[in-house]
Parts: sequence; structure tokens; C-alpha cells
Amino acid sequence: MRPLPLTTLLFALAATAFSQPNYDLLLQGGRVIDAKNHLDAVRDVAIKDGKIAAVEPKIDAAQAFKTVNVAGLYVTPGLVDIHVHVYAGTGAPNAYDGDLSVYPDGHTLPYGVTTVVDAGSSGWRNFPDFKQRVIDRARTRVLALLNIVGAGMGGGKIEQDVSDMDPQATARRAMEYKDTVVGIKTAHFAGPEWVAVERAVEAGTQASIPVMVDFGTFRPERPYQDLVLKKLRPGDISTHMYLTAAPMLDDSGKLMPYLLEARKRGVIFDVGHGAGSFAFRQAVPAMEQGFPPDSISTDLHVSSMLAGMKDMTNVMSKFLNMGMSMDDVIAKSTWAPAREIHREELGHLTQGAVADVAVLRIENGNFGFVDTSGAKMTGTKKLVCELTIRNGKVVWDLNGITRDDWKTLGKYKAQGDPRWDGTLVQSVRERR
Ligand SMILES: [Zn+2]
Repeated sequence: MRPLPLTTLLFALAATAFSQPNYDLLLQGGRVIDAKNHLDAVRDVAIKDGKIAAVEPKIDAAQAFKTVNVAGLYVTPGLVDIHVHVYAGTGAPNAYDGDLSVYPDGHTLPYGVTTVVDAGSSGWRNFPDFKQRVIDRARTRVLALLNIVGAGMGGGKIEQDVSDMDPQATARRAMEYKDTVVGIKTAHFAGPEWVAVERAVEAGTQASIPVMVDFGTFRPERPYQDLVLKKLRPGDISTHMYLTAAPMLDDSGKLMPYLLEARKRGVIFDVGHGAGSFAFRQAVPAMEQGFPPDSISTDLHVSSMLAGMKDMTNVMSKFLNMGMSMDDVIAKSTWAPAREIHREELGHLTQGAVADVAVLRIENGNFGFVDTSGAKMTGTKKLVCELTIRNGKVVWDLNGITRDDWKTLGKYKAQGDPRWDGTLVQSVRERR
């Protein structure tokens, strides 16, 4: 038999290559917002083996096992919420590491959040228990700030126990679990001394990680101005920034200049909405006078999710309605927080990055947003999460946009049914 001409061979090879879909999943026609890559444009996003495989103006649907039309929607990196409470394992009554924490997945993935940072629910003593019970089991990526109190956020006297604030033991634990522990937290301290802040900063310095401060009781003996101008290092984070107790506006409603000075020296201001830490009467005038947050976070726990905070997209919607651009809202919920916790592999859609993706929709209508000091703000825009992808897998699909219409599928067969199971891309690949 005569050998085939070379060109025919090449053509046959190329045809074989293109007949096998290269990508697991293709999100087509969405408006991609990716702050790290300075991108705000309509792009197709291809995913393969849990990674972002390509972001291009046009990717052929034939190259993917599954193509999803996301035209009119926003495609963003999976949201990064750096202030949550997801360690409910200790059983301590009424504490943030007891009855007030939540198990993450049901309160994160439906809102586009693929990475959370537990803000000090555990300390160095109970972190291994937290890791075993929650971090190693959740589908959400759970990172943690270690409380400077060894016993964590146990409430009451536990959090005031200065003798359990051990910077060495805390730093050692942080370094032992450096894949998961991204910082140190101090919270709810009521005493007149700086000891809680100072020991947290000492632990953070020893482990080379940032500190997040919930200033607790604001006392004249330790002014908040000194916290952000002197005590915190550049890169440390002041959360609950729009709390009513925070000195923010002077008697005539003017933004106090020390805040801009603190920001200039590198201190980070984070929302940490929570159940008592976000007032429109602080946030709106501060935003108008040039003091927006560096990062948007929820302070998710049972009390906040049932009150004004609700969920990450609701908190982001508040900023959208206060006049922040969609680009900034997304940047401050993805790339900015990822950088704050020194996890620059997260919060963007660069080729090769983990495929954590949120697909969001802006609803237009009349909406009410509730704060933590008895007020509400009305607005016309509300963010809703249509689709969440974690590690390349669909983990949330509000309206079934990844599914085929049932009428098109024919009779159900127990075996060999041709449905694409969006939650199990891998099984489809294995079937080919
Ligand atoms: Zn908190």
C-alpha cells in the first residue's frame, strides 16, 4: 500500500486533536473583571483540570466538553472574604467559636465566595481541632487568623485572659501550619492596656504575617489614633472600619485627617461588617470624602447573617449603591484581600491559576439595605450570584445555566445517560 502524503497525515492529526475537546468547561461571553490583570472586558474563560486554561476574546465552543452562555453576567475570580467565623466546634455557649459560628459551605459558595479567612475563632491551643473539624472537610478554601488568646474566641473572660496571650506559642503554631494560617487576630479586648495588640503584633512579627485588629472597647487610655498611627505595622489590618465607635468624622462631619495618614503609612482598613460594626452614618460620609475600604469582608456569623450583613454579595451591593464602581467592588473582594493575606496565587483569573470563579448578575429594582445601627439605605442595584466554580467544579448554579433543558434529553436511562453533571466534570472526562 502506498504511504499517505504528508499533508494528509498532518490534516488527519490536526482533525483528531480538534475533535477531542480540550477544555472541561467554557464560560462564554461574560464580562470578565480581573483586577490583577487590569481586565474589564467581554472574554471567554476556559477551565481544564481545575485551572484557568485560557481567557480570550473568542474561544470555540467545540474545544470544550461544556459551554455555558454567560452573556450579560459578570465573570470574576472566586470571592475572597477575609473576615468570617466558621469554627463552631468547641460548643462554647454564645461564643464565636461556639454557637455563633457557622459551617462555611452553605453560607459562602451560594454567594460566590470560594476562599474565607476565619478571623481568630481559634487560638494556638484549639487550631488543630478547627483544622480537623472544618478546614480539612469544607469545600470552601478556609484559611485562618490565629487569635492571640490561646483558647480562641471563647467569649466572656476567656478573651480577656492576658495570661493566655502567648506570642511565642502563637507564632510557633502559625509557622507549623503556614499553608493555612495567614495572620494573627486580636479581638474584643476590654482592658485599658495595649497588651492584646502588642502581643498580637509580636506574634505577627515572629511569624512574618499580618495582624488583624478588632479594637474591642474603645478607651481613652489607648486611643484608636495611636493604634493605626503607631502600634500597627504597614500591612496590618484594622477591621470593622465603619463602626460607630471609630473616631472617623469630626463634629462638623469632616473626615478626620489621621485616617488618611494611617492609610499612607500602609495600615489596611477592612469592612468586617458583622452584627455591630457597619453604620451608613459613618460609611457614606467617609466614602464621599475619599475614605473607601481597602477590602470588603462580612464578619459572617449567626447574628450578622440574620441581620443587616446577610451575605457577601449583599455587603458588596451596599458599596455599589454607595457609588463604588463595579470594578472596585470586585477588586476589593478578590485581588485586594488576597494580597492583604499574602496569598497572591488567589483572587485572579491568570492562566494557570486555580479555577475559582464567581458569575454574578446585577439586578435592577428597588432594594433596602440594613446596617448595624438601626438604619437602612435604599438602592437600585443588587448583586446576585448565578454560578460558583471551586477548583474547576460547579458548586453552585442558581438557575441551572450549566444544565440542559429536560425536554431535550429524551428518556432517562439508568446507565449511559448523556447528561452533563456540572458538579462532576471529572466523571464526564472519564467517560470519553
Ligand atoms: Zn469577627
